[in-house]
Amino acid sequence: MLLRILGTAAGGGLPQWNCACPGCAGARLHPARRRLHDGLAVHGGGAGGWFLANATPDVAEQLESHPGLRPGTGEDRTPVVRVVLTDAELDHTLGLLRLREAARIDIWCTEPVRGALGARLPLTDILTPYTTLTWHDLPLAGSGRYAEVAGLEVSALPLSDKRPRYAADEPSHPAWSVALKVRDPGPGTRALYAPAVAAWSDRLGTEIAEADRVLLDGTFLDEEEPRRTGISRRTASGMGHLPIEGPEGTARRLGGAGARVLYTHLNNTNPLTDPGDRAHERLAGLGPRVAEDRMVVSL
Ligand SMILES: [Zn+2]
Repeated sequence: MLLRILGTAAGGGLPQWNCACPGCAGARLHPARRRLHDGLAVHGGGAGGWFLANATPDVAEQLESHPGLRPGTGEDRTPVVRVVLTDAELDHTLGLLRLREAARIDIWCTEPVRGALGARLPLTDILTPYTTLTWHDLPLAGSGRYAEVAGLEVSALPLSDKRPRYAADEPSHPAWSVALKVRDPGPGTRALYAPAVAAWSDRLGTEIAEADRVLLDGTFLDEEEPRRTGISRRTASGMGHLPIEGPEGTARRLGGAGARVLYTHLNNTNPLTDPGDRAHERLAGLGPRVAEDRMVVSL
Protein backbone atom coordinates (compact mmCIF):
# COMPACT_ATOMS: atom_id res chain seq x y z
CA MET A 1 0.00 0.00 0.00
CA LEU A 2 0.94 3.61 -0.48
CA LEU A 3 0.36 6.38 2.08
CA ARG A 4 0.28 9.88 0.63
CA ILE A 5 0.53 12.38 3.47
CA LEU A 6 -1.81 15.22 2.58
CA GLY A 7 -1.22 17.38 5.64
CA THR A 8 0.37 17.26 9.08
CA ALA A 9 -1.07 20.18 11.09
CA ALA A 10 -3.57 20.26 13.94
CA GLY A 11 -6.69 22.44 13.86
CA GLY A 12 -6.12 25.80 12.18
CA GLY A 13 -3.15 24.64 10.12
CA LEU A 14 0.23 26.37 10.02
CA PRO A 15 0.11 29.33 9.87
CA GLN A 16 -3.29 29.75 11.48
CA TRP A 17 -5.06 32.78 9.99
CA ASN A 18 -5.58 34.61 13.31
CA CYS A 19 -2.32 33.72 15.04
CA ALA A 20 1.11 35.38 15.21
CA CYS A 21 2.86 32.94 17.54
CA PRO A 22 6.51 32.12 16.71
CA GLY A 23 5.43 28.99 14.80
CA CYS A 24 2.90 30.84 12.65
CA ALA A 25 5.25 33.80 12.11
CA GLY A 26 8.00 31.35 11.11
CA ALA A 27 5.72 29.67 8.58
CA ARG A 28 4.83 33.05 7.01
CA LEU A 29 8.52 33.87 6.73
CA HIS A 30 9.57 30.40 5.48
CA PRO A 31 6.85 28.92 3.21
CA ALA A 32 8.48 25.46 3.45
CA ARG A 33 7.26 25.33 7.06
CA ARG A 34 3.60 25.68 6.08
CA ARG A 35 1.46 22.68 6.94
CA LEU A 36 -2.11 21.82 5.93
CA HIS A 37 -4.59 19.98 8.18
CA ASP A 38 -3.60 16.38 8.85
CA GLY A 39 -4.97 13.76 6.49
CA LEU A 40 -3.89 10.88 4.25
CA ALA A 41 -4.72 9.32 0.93
CA VAL A 42 -4.27 5.55 1.19
CA HIS A 43 -3.82 3.42 -1.94
CA GLY A 44 -4.38 -0.28 -2.16
CA GLY A 45 -2.54 -2.32 -4.73
CA GLY A 46 -3.75 -2.71 -8.30
CA ALA A 47 -6.94 -1.11 -9.54
CA GLY A 48 -8.48 -0.74 -6.07
CA GLY A 49 -8.00 3.00 -6.09
CA TRP A 50 -7.55 5.07 -2.96
CA PHE A 51 -9.41 6.43 0.03
CA LEU A 52 -9.04 9.53 2.15
CA ALA A 53 -8.34 9.17 5.84
CA ASN A 54 -10.30 12.24 7.01
CA ALA A 55 -11.56 15.05 4.78
CA THR A 56 -9.96 18.30 5.91
CA PRO A 57 -10.93 21.89 5.05
CA ASP A 58 -7.84 21.82 2.78
CA VAL A 59 -8.90 18.70 0.88
CA ALA A 60 -9.18 20.22 -2.61
CA GLU A 61 -5.69 21.77 -2.42
CA GLN A 62 -4.37 18.52 -0.94
CA LEU A 63 -5.70 16.44 -3.84
CA GLU A 64 -4.15 18.93 -6.28
CA SER A 65 -0.78 18.79 -4.53
CA HIS A 66 -0.28 15.08 -5.33
CA PRO A 67 -0.14 14.42 -9.10
CA GLY A 68 -1.22 10.82 -8.44
CA LEU A 69 -4.54 12.05 -7.02
CA ARG A 70 -5.46 14.41 -9.85
CA PRO A 71 -8.39 13.40 -12.08
CA GLY A 72 -8.13 12.03 -15.58
CA THR A 73 -10.26 13.40 -18.40
CA GLY A 74 -13.82 12.40 -19.22
CA GLU A 75 -14.98 9.24 -17.55
CA ASP A 76 -11.94 9.16 -15.28
CA ARG A 77 -12.98 12.35 -13.50
CA THR A 78 -12.83 10.96 -9.93
CA PRO A 79 -16.54 10.07 -9.86
CA VAL A 80 -16.47 8.31 -6.50
CA VAL A 81 -14.69 9.48 -3.38
CA ARG A 82 -14.12 7.16 -0.42
CA VAL A 83 -13.54 8.71 3.00
CA VAL A 84 -12.75 6.92 6.28
CA LEU A 85 -13.12 9.12 9.36
CA THR A 86 -11.23 8.90 12.67
CA ASP A 87 -13.72 11.19 14.45
CA ALA A 88 -16.34 13.90 13.84
CA GLU A 89 -14.05 16.92 14.46
CA LEU A 90 -14.57 19.88 12.11
CA ASP A 91 -10.96 19.70 10.91
CA HIS A 92 -11.53 16.12 9.79
CA THR A 93 -15.00 16.45 8.26
CA LEU A 94 -15.53 19.92 6.74
CA GLY A 95 -13.75 18.73 3.60
CA LEU A 96 -16.78 16.56 2.84
CA LEU A 97 -18.57 19.79 1.87
CA ARG A 98 -15.78 20.63 -0.57
CA LEU A 99 -16.13 17.21 -2.22
CA ARG A 100 -19.75 17.88 -3.23
CA GLU A 101 -18.88 17.79 -6.96
CA ALA A 102 -18.31 14.03 -6.71
CA ALA A 103 -21.07 11.84 -8.15
CA ARG A 104 -20.95 9.78 -4.97
CA ILE A 105 -19.20 9.94 -1.60
CA ASP A 106 -18.79 6.73 0.38
CA ILE A 107 -18.10 7.35 4.07
CA TRP A 108 -16.93 4.85 6.69
CA CYS A 109 -17.10 5.85 10.37
CA THR A 110 -18.11 4.63 13.81
CA GLU A 111 -21.68 4.84 15.08
CA PRO A 112 -21.38 7.99 17.29
CA VAL A 113 -19.53 9.83 14.51
CA ARG A 114 -22.26 9.02 12.03
CA GLY A 115 -24.86 10.20 14.54
CA ALA A 116 -23.08 13.54 15.01
CA LEU A 117 -22.67 14.04 11.25
CA GLY A 118 -26.30 13.24 10.61
CA ALA A 119 -27.87 15.42 13.28
CA ARG A 120 -25.54 17.89 15.00
CA LEU A 121 -23.52 18.87 11.94
CA PRO A 122 -26.19 17.94 9.37
CA LEU A 123 -23.89 17.01 6.49
CA THR A 124 -26.36 14.50 5.09
CA ASP A 125 -29.10 17.12 4.72
CA ILE A 126 -26.72 19.70 3.29
CA LEU A 127 -24.96 17.42 0.79
CA THR A 128 -27.88 15.35 -0.48
CA PRO A 129 -28.99 17.90 -3.12
CA TYR A 130 -25.43 17.88 -4.54
CA THR A 131 -24.23 14.28 -4.41
CA THR A 132 -25.09 10.82 -3.14
CA LEU A 133 -23.80 10.08 0.34
CA THR A 134 -23.49 6.42 1.25
CA TRP A 135 -22.67 5.62 4.88
CA HIS A 136 -20.85 2.44 5.88
CA ASP A 137 -20.15 0.90 9.25
CA LEU A 138 -16.49 0.99 10.31
CA PRO A 139 -15.99 -2.20 12.37
CA LEU A 140 -13.96 -2.12 15.56
CA ALA A 141 -10.52 -3.73 15.50
CA GLY A 142 -10.56 -7.04 17.32
CA SER A 143 -14.17 -7.76 16.34
CA GLY A 144 -12.94 -10.04 13.58
CA ARG A 145 -14.61 -7.78 11.03
CA TYR A 146 -13.21 -5.03 8.82
CA ALA A 147 -14.34 -2.78 6.03
CA GLU A 148 -12.96 -3.45 2.56
CA VAL A 149 -11.97 -0.06 1.17
CA ALA A 150 -9.85 0.37 -1.97
CA GLY A 151 -8.75 -3.26 -1.70
CA LEU A 152 -7.55 -2.78 1.89
CA GLU A 153 -8.89 -4.06 5.22
CA VAL A 154 -9.77 -1.16 7.49
CA SER A 155 -10.94 -1.24 11.11
CA ALA A 156 -11.14 1.20 14.02
CA LEU A 157 -9.19 1.04 17.26
CA PRO A 158 -11.21 2.98 19.88
CA LEU A 159 -9.05 5.65 21.55
CA SER A 160 -11.35 7.96 23.50
CA ASP A 161 -14.85 9.30 24.04
CA LYS A 162 -13.75 12.86 23.26
CA ARG A 163 -16.63 14.48 21.40
CA PRO A 164 -16.33 17.50 19.12
CA ARG A 165 -17.27 20.73 20.90
CA TYR A 166 -20.41 21.09 18.76
CA ALA A 167 -21.58 17.70 20.05
CA ALA A 168 -20.22 17.97 23.60
CA ASP A 169 -23.58 17.04 25.15
CA GLU A 170 -23.93 13.81 23.17
CA PRO A 171 -23.70 10.56 25.16
CA SER A 172 -20.31 9.06 25.96
CA HIS A 173 -19.11 6.29 23.63
CA PRO A 174 -15.67 4.61 23.44
CA ALA A 175 -15.43 5.10 19.66
CA TRP A 176 -15.93 8.86 19.31
CA SER A 177 -12.23 9.04 18.44
CA VAL A 178 -10.42 6.08 16.88
CA ALA A 179 -7.18 5.10 15.17
CA LEU A 180 -7.47 3.55 11.72
CA LYS A 181 -5.87 0.18 11.31
CA VAL A 182 -5.19 -0.60 7.64
CA ARG A 183 -3.98 -3.96 6.37
CA ASP A 184 -2.99 -4.85 2.83
CA PRO A 185 -4.20 -8.45 2.41
CA GLY A 186 -1.64 -9.20 -0.32
CA PRO A 187 1.73 -8.67 1.39
CA GLY A 188 0.12 -8.48 4.85
CA THR A 189 1.61 -5.03 5.60
CA ARG A 190 -0.08 -2.80 8.17
CA ALA A 191 -0.40 0.91 8.82
CA LEU A 192 -1.85 2.67 11.85
CA TYR A 193 -3.17 6.26 11.71
CA ALA A 194 -3.75 7.79 15.16
CA PRO A 195 -3.95 11.60 14.99
CA ALA A 196 -5.54 12.05 18.46
CA VAL A 197 -4.19 9.90 21.30
CA ALA A 198 -5.70 11.02 24.62
CA ALA A 199 -4.31 8.19 26.75
CA TRP A 200 -1.88 5.33 26.37
CA SER A 201 -3.10 1.76 26.60
CA ASP A 202 -1.46 -1.64 26.31
CA ARG A 203 -3.68 -2.26 23.31
CA LEU A 204 -2.41 0.83 21.54
CA GLY A 205 1.18 -0.17 22.35
CA THR A 206 0.61 -3.60 20.83
CA GLU A 207 -0.97 -2.18 17.68
CA ILE A 208 1.94 0.25 17.26
CA ALA A 209 4.48 -2.55 17.77
CA GLU A 210 2.76 -4.69 15.11
CA ALA A 211 2.43 -1.95 12.48
CA ASP A 212 4.90 -1.42 9.66
CA ARG A 213 4.28 2.34 9.76
CA VAL A 214 2.50 4.54 12.30
CA LEU A 215 1.24 8.10 11.91
CA LEU A 216 0.96 9.24 15.53
CA ASP A 217 -0.46 12.21 17.43
CA GLY A 218 2.31 14.83 17.63
CA THR A 219 0.07 17.77 18.55
CA PHE A 220 2.20 19.00 21.46
CA LEU A 221 5.88 18.46 22.26
CA ASP A 222 5.45 18.58 26.04
CA GLU A 223 2.72 18.59 28.66
CA GLU A 224 3.00 22.31 29.53
CA GLU A 225 3.10 23.62 25.94
CA PRO A 226 -0.57 24.77 25.77
CA ARG A 227 -0.26 26.72 29.07
CA ARG A 228 3.23 28.08 28.35
CA THR A 229 2.15 29.45 24.98
CA GLY A 230 -1.11 30.81 26.38
CA ILE A 231 -3.49 28.91 24.08
CA SER A 232 -5.21 27.08 26.94
CA ARG A 233 -5.30 26.73 30.71
CA ARG A 234 -5.21 22.96 30.25
CA THR A 235 -2.21 20.70 29.78
CA ALA A 236 -1.61 18.76 26.56
CA SER A 237 -3.19 15.57 27.89
CA GLY A 238 -5.95 17.69 29.45
CA MET A 239 -6.72 18.80 25.88
CA GLY A 240 -6.90 15.18 24.71
CA HIS A 241 -3.40 14.83 23.24
CA LEU A 242 -0.60 12.96 24.99
CA PRO A 243 2.59 14.99 24.47
CA ILE A 244 5.62 13.63 22.62
CA GLU A 245 8.24 14.24 25.35
CA GLY A 246 8.24 13.92 29.14
CA PRO A 247 7.48 11.09 31.54
CA GLU A 248 3.95 10.59 30.17
CA GLY A 249 5.01 11.33 26.59
CA THR A 250 4.63 8.89 23.74
CA ALA A 251 8.23 8.98 22.42
CA ARG A 252 9.69 6.96 25.30
CA ARG A 253 6.91 4.37 25.13
CA LEU A 254 7.60 3.38 21.55
CA GLY A 255 10.65 1.18 22.19
CA GLY A 256 11.84 -0.59 19.07
CA ALA A 257 8.81 0.63 17.11
CA GLY A 258 10.08 4.23 17.30
CA ALA A 259 11.89 4.07 13.97
CA ARG A 260 8.59 3.22 12.22
CA VAL A 261 6.71 6.18 13.74
CA LEU A 262 6.04 9.55 12.10
CA TYR A 263 4.49 12.29 14.22
CA THR A 264 1.63 14.21 12.62
CA HIS A 265 -1.18 16.63 13.67
CA LEU A 266 1.38 19.23 14.89
CA ASN A 267 -0.12 22.26 16.61
CA ASN A 268 1.19 25.67 15.51
CA THR A 269 2.74 26.07 19.00
CA ASN A 270 4.83 22.89 18.64
CA PRO A 271 8.57 23.77 18.47
CA LEU A 272 9.02 20.87 16.02
CA THR A 273 7.44 23.05 13.30
CA ASP A 274 10.86 24.78 13.27
CA PRO A 275 13.23 22.40 11.44
CA GLY A 276 16.17 23.90 13.35
CA ASP A 277 14.77 23.19 16.82
CA ARG A 278 16.95 20.99 19.04
CA ALA A 279 13.95 18.77 19.82
CA HIS A 280 14.47 17.11 16.40
CA GLU A 281 17.86 15.77 17.59
CA ARG A 282 16.42 14.47 20.86
CA LEU A 283 13.66 12.74 18.92
CA ALA A 284 16.08 11.22 16.42
CA GLY A 285 17.87 9.55 19.34
CA LEU A 286 14.66 7.71 20.17
CA GLY A 287 13.78 6.77 16.59
CA PRO A 288 10.63 8.63 15.52
CA ARG A 289 10.59 11.54 13.07
CA VAL A 290 8.17 14.28 12.13
CA ALA A 291 5.95 13.68 9.09
CA GLU A 292 6.00 16.31 6.35
CA ASP A 293 3.25 17.38 3.97
CA ARG A 294 3.42 15.57 0.59
CA MET A 295 5.57 12.71 1.92
CA VAL A 296 4.81 9.37 0.27
CA VAL A 297 5.34 6.18 2.28
CA SER A 298 5.37 2.80 0.53
CA LEU A 299 4.65 -0.34 2.53
ZN1 LIG B 1 0.29 30.30 15.88
